[in-house]
Amino acid sequence: MVYLVLLLLPVLFGCSSTDDLFLPSEKQANIKGEYIFRRHNEYFYNPQLPKPRDPPIYPWESPLNLPEITKEYFRCKGSCVNPELIVDNKGELKSYFDCDGDDAHGLPLRDGEEFIYTILIDILNYLQEETGHGVVITSGHRCPDHNTYVDPSKDNLYSKHMIGAEVSFYIDTMEYQPQVVIELLRDYYRNDVPEYASFLRYEKSNTNVRTRPWYNKEIFVKLFEPDEGRSLDNQHSFPYISIQVRYDRVHDEKITYSWNKAHRHYLRK
Ligand SMILES: [Zn+2]
Repeated sequence: MVYLVLLLLPVLFGCSSTDDLFLPSEKQANIKGEYIFRRHNEYFYNPQLPKPRDPPIYPWESPLNLPEITKEYFRCKGSCVNPELIVDNKGELKSYFDCDGDDAHGLPLRDGEEFIYTILIDILNYLQEETGHGVVITSGHRCPDHNTYVDPSKDNLYSKHMIGAEVSFYIDTMEYQPQVVIELLRDYYRNDVPEYASFLRYEKSNTNVRTRPWYNKEIFVKLFEPDEGRSLDNQHSFPYISIQVRYDRVHDEKITYSWNKAHRHYLRK
């Protein structure tokens, strides 16, 4: 046992640092050094000013994560829970009922398939890619019942919403920048042939908007201010844009409303 203690003694007491050999006053006496003087504007190097940079894009803001617009987004927004609408038409009361929406019927048919004019789908996807924000379609296809229910006025009788050739929308987080969206929309045609690339302003007064609409050979664009065009599908407080298709480039024909086109869709009920 005594031998073991003797063997451990160097281990227990032999590891102290050399600093411990000096008392505090002796340590202070050994400190050597000098002050460094500089003026406030003297640097060894010129520090770069921080450069502002765009904040990183959150995953949900990335255009890659935005769902692609398809014809499914255009389905009729009619609902059976909407109450009967009674309108006083020059002393004669008329009542209207909404449709049951997607549960009741499909999109307009063309060659036996549900369809929406592809230019509308292409433009809305283009706007999503360019802005990085989602397009909110407030009114896509309206069946004749829903079209009358949302707006029974005469002006709405031949709406192209019924034939899949019109859409109303705004862009999420850009609700109050419709002019920027319209500029982008015109950019979509920038490199096209002149009759599509150049937009004209519609000068006639027979529109339901104060801003003069824009049009080229293919589309007609209207801007609705917050106090305009508040049909049932647009009961929000934002300005919104409506695009009507005027000309079918694929089939080389002018697009007009017809009763047949409006009433040709699958009935589910
Ligand atoms: Zn409907």
